[in-house]
Amino acid sequence: MFEGVEEIWMDGEFVDFEDAQIHVLTHALHYGTGVFEGVRCYDTDQGPAIFRWEEHLDRLFNSAEVYDIDIPYTKAELDEATRELIDREGLDSGYIRPIAFYGYGPLGLNPKASPVQVALAVWPWGAYLGDEALEEGVDVAVSSWRKYSSSQIPTNAKTTGTYVNSVLASLEAKGNGYEEAIVLNKEGNVAEGPGENLFMVRDGEIHTTGLAESILDGITRRTVIELAKEMGYTVHDDATISRGELYTADELFFSGTAAEITPIRSVDDNEIGAGTKGPVTDEIQTRFFEVVEEGQPDEWFTPV
Ligand code: PMP
Repeated sequence: MFEGVEEIWMDGEFVDFEDAQIHVLTHALHYGTGVFEGVRCYDTDQGPAIFRWEEHLDRLFNSAEVYDIDIPYTKAELDEATRELIDREGLDSGYIRPIAFYGYGPLGLNPKASPVQVALAVWPWGAYLGDEALEEGVDVAVSSWRKYSSSQIPTNAKTTGTYVNSVLASLEAKGNGYEEAIVLNKEGNVAEGPGENLFMVRDGEIHTTGLAESILDGITRRTVIELAKEMGYTVHDDATISRGELYTADELFFSGTAAEITPIRSVDDNEIGAGTKGPVTDEIQTRFFEVVEEGQPDEWFTPV
């Protein structure tokens, strides 16, 4: 995955890939006290540009605030460092991973005595679930692991430690021969995928689970909602979706920075629609890829 990556930006400097190291007694390694982002840079008609970068930076800083992580750089400094890193790596398109975490310090649960470390990495990354998945859709299974509730751990923060929940769901799904999982929340309604939000099409209208269902406020989710409305669809963005409704949906798809727009062709071996990418999903996916190819509207793209 990281073949050819030459440099990482770490704590204010560009360092060689091999030298981007941390101590084994790093606070975040033991307690998951880090926050991160996943962002894409697209090779648009206007040149390489970062998709909805400001919103990703805002989410990073908001996630950090939840854990009292004082990021010792401004958004403008991280923006500049990221654009320079993309340039130095010679990337036209790829994935960007900013991370901020409590570093090496005393190993108590109060992290405040540990320094905050920040790193940025970029690398080429194609379709997360594969090119075929974008065309044909994925077979998914409802996980036996539930999504933690926002009353237990803030679900609006993208926190390293909480991704063990997603890892468990992924391991289970893949172990049982499925490509991805759908995770239900504490109430037993649909939350999201391990790294994706979920959309359902029924009777020509679009539904996505609401923020109150213990989901991450996905930036691709916001994009889909905006594009679908522009395209004239009725969008219910605060839906409660039950497991049974998944089985009888006309269409289902995932949205996410890594997964982009990935159709779901079956859930728990129940075929969804015709068992391939549905027409509404196709239309939204086509529009999404058109947007990132054109690099328009301007306010969604930061040129490198
Ligand atoms: N939910 C979870 C749990 C995720 O990890 C992600 C990926 N960041 C998403 C949803 C989708 O969010 P976004 O569209 O901002 O990538």
